[in-house]
Amino acid sequence: MPGAIEIGSATIHRIVEQEGPFFDALQFFPAMTKEFLDENRGWLQPRFLDANDKLILCIQSYVVQTQHHTIMIDTCVGNHKSRPTRSFWNMMNSDRYEKSLAASGFSVNDIDFVMCTHLHTDHVGWNTRLENGCWVPTFPKARYVFADRELAYWTKRQQDDPVACPWIVDSVLPIVAANRADIVKSAHAFNDLVTLIPTPGHTIDHYSVQVGRLGAHAIITGDMIHSPLQARFPELGMMADYDSKQAGESRRVLFDRVCDTSTIMCTAHFPSPSTGRLVRHRDAFDFIDV
Ligand SMILES: [Zn+2]
Repeated sequence: MPGAIEIGSATIHRIVEQEGPFFDALQFFPAMTKEFLDENRGWLQPRFLDANDKLILCIQSYVVQTQHHTIMIDTCVGNHKSRPTRSFWNMMNSDRYEKSLAASGFSVNDIDFVMCTHLHTDHVGWNTRLENGCWVPTFPKARYVFADRELAYWTKRQQDDPVACPWIVDSVLPIVAANRADIVKSAHAFNDLVTLIPTPGHTIDHYSVQVGRLGAHAIITGDMIHSPLQARFPELGMMADYDSKQAGESRRVLFDRVCDTSTIMCTAHFPSPSTGRLVRHRDAFDFIDV
């Protein structure tokens, strides 16, 4: 399939729902100063930052096809979902996701497992779809893999404040109610080719997904990184982090391990092509295309 990444016997496909300028960079990275942004604008524009200082982001899933399973990692924003605090994601009604899935050769019936790296609104949306006024699992055969502490945290948060996180109500709890959730540790060997790696900080129990055997790896990062700025400056936190200090430590640990190797990083939110490798850059890292 054109555009697919081959990792040994597995293939990895990008399923794009949206791409464009979304968030003001200075709001997205609250600790970033105007001067800091000015210093980095030269390499960020025009690919990662638009002329109005908005970050250009992709919203996408990855599908990993192995000889035994077809696994979807993260499920974007979804359709018909009320997101009052995010106008660009509110009540979406688009066929782009479905078309993107079909263009990669998959239908919703092909997905055996859905893995949510974390339970934020842009990673759980297509877990469910609206049918006769009810939220039902989008992928009829799939088991949904959630990290235990992540699910517990968001379930409690929703109970404590029922209107604060509508995506838990419409895209996570219906999966649990339908007995489709597989609740695992964020360090979890799914099989001999697919391993969940804990990368906490952005959320309480965030995981990334490693695909392939030693020396021929890809890592689906989820939101342990949002922008190549966080490769150059791993300690730079983003606005929705649970614990930015811990997120920075997670970046240092994983990037130290994979930098200057052939490991392909498949990011959730970098603009297309969204994938690349990490190389050493001064006391940190640089994200380069492959
Ligand atoms: Zn995200």
